[in-house]
Amino acid sequence: MEQEIVSKNFIEQMIDKDLEDGVYDAVCTRFPPEPNGYLHIGHAKSILLNYGIAKKYHGKFNMRFDDTNPTKEKTEFVESIKEDIQWLGADWEDRLYFASDYFEKMYEAAVTLIKKGKAYVCDLTAEEIREYRGTLTQPGKESPYRNRSVEENLQLFEEMRKGKVADGARVLRAKIDMASSNMNMRDPVIYRVAHMHHHNTGDTWCIYPMYDFAHPLEDAFEGVTHSICTLEFEDHRPLYDWVVREVGFEQPPRQIEFAKLYLTNVVTGKRYIKKLVEEGIVDGWDDPRLVSIAALRRRGFTPESIQMFVDLCGVSKAQSSADYAMLEYCVREDLKLKKSRMMAVLDPIKLIIDNYPEGQTEELEVANNLENEELGSRKVLFGRELYIEREDFMEIPPKKYFRLFPGNEVRLMQAYFVKCESFVKDDNGQVTEIHCTYDPETKCGSGFTGRKVKGTIHWVSAQEAVQAEVRLYENIIDEEKGVYNEDGSLNLNPNSLTVKQAYLEPDLKQAKPYDSFQFVRNGYYCVDAKDSREGAPVFNRIVSLKSSFKLPKA
Ligand code: ATP
Ligand code: MG
Repeated sequence: MEQEIVSKNFIEQMIDKDLEDGVYDAVCTRFPPEPNGYLHIGHAKSILLNYGIAKKYHGKFNMRFDDTNPTKEKTEFVESIKEDIQWLGADWEDRLYFASDYFEKMYEAAVTLIKKGKAYVCDLTAEEIREYRGTLTQPGKESPYRNRSVEENLQLFEEMRKGKVADGARVLRAKIDMASSNMNMRDPVIYRVAHMHHHNTGDTWCIYPMYDFAHPLEDAFEGVTHSICTLEFEDHRPLYDWVVREVGFEQPPRQIEFAKLYLTNVVTGKRYIKKLVEEGIVDGWDDPRLVSIAALRRRGFTPESIQMFVDLCGVSKAQSSADYAMLEYCVREDLKLKKSRMMAVLDPIKLIIDNYPEGQTEELEVANNLENEELGSRKVLFGRELYIEREDFMEIPPKKYFRLFPGNEVRLMQAYFVKCESFVKDDNGQVTEIHCTYDPETKCGSGFTGRKVKGTIHWVSAQEAVQAEVRLYENIIDEEKGVYNEDGSLNLNPNSLTVKQAYLEPDLKQAKPYDSFQFVRNGYYCVDAKDSREGAPVFNRIVSLKSSFKLPKA
């Protein structure tokens, strides 16, 4: 039997080595969002990467809100983030943590550093600290407060905690090396005074730890082994290592960086999306044209398709950008065999079969998915009056147009051959009705082999069809012209949303939020969870059927 070659990404290779060397005996990862916005497709990559690794190594995956910054955080985001992660299928079991729960332990860790002579209270202003810091080419200058005694530092730090120090008047700094070639190591601030209310700890604290101090501690307290983050933290790693070493953890976590996921011509920046929401250009953070996880879910993407996409993108240290078309490819692949293929007419025009007896109807048995028998079949009503797509008829057809035109015969999908005999126009020259004759011998499944037709078109029964709103989406960005205008604003596509009143098979009337279907010859559609009403679904186009995207050869 041929052996499957499973390639491992560079993070897994590092973990393998750590396990082999006995650095750790089990694996623990985490996802540490700041609750200051909605998660997007880039976060999905981080979530699935961390969760996937924990699962692969039979380890643990922790969920932790990095809520150490009381100004920006909101409880609303905590809830949306949890919902998104659960939907993606990443399971933190009973390990849901908040960094703010560790404030006391963080304070103690700072005291440990002070006692070791590794941290000091500094009275320089923020501006002075910046000046003293030096530049990339010049070393920094030591603060005049750097050599305060341990006792004095302990006392001053306690006063900071007790609220006796005004915001910005004093900070606690790590005592590392003002001449380090790494700017992050030049006595970074690790605690600041901020008399602010915190969503979790209320007014208990008026000092808050800085990210570079808090984050490694959070990881270490939880026994995280591999702290996977994005590339911009690479230069912070020496500080991360310094903190966990100096505070004295026996099996300190290891930070590993990978490149962020970017999508070409797609906006993910919070600042821009906030503006789109505020200006009413989009219908909230979950507008189906956005790539927040909530938006992708509402549009009809599946967790499986996002997993496939993230897997295809791979994990690396090289900055790159993926095509939205690849995400579309993934959802098509995922839905292809799972969803029923229904007939829906988006831009309807009436077709009348003149030789089909008036008042007569028949039920046709139609397979739900020709590639997957397990989805069963349904009955579809056929009759004298139908709707077909306007674009499936042309008065004067161009070459290679095989659909309906005067004198031409096509197959009505799953039904009969019909031949166009005439058509009716209104005063504006718009075609309003197409008249055909059908051949009863040609019923689908009857084994008819008498002649062939080149075109097959879909239809719905005029008697039975239900009307519904269908929304077609395009990129909110005008891709032709690039993402940004010269003034830095977004280059918006005025056609990013098209609303249609479509005719659908009657079964679709009962569709529930998040149900999705293929509309034959057209695309995949999902019931909008926000705007649909019982018995009146609104459909979002997830993706069209055709694509120029080709999976790169392995
Ligand atoms: P901000 O910097 O505005 O807070 P953020 O996207 O970094 O935004 P975090 O809540 O800090 O928000 O992110 C949580 C985790 O998701 C971090 O570990 C971060 O590295 C990771 N992450 C963020 N954006 C991406 C991305 N585009 N691709 C992969 N991982 C990402
Ligand atoms: Mg961040």
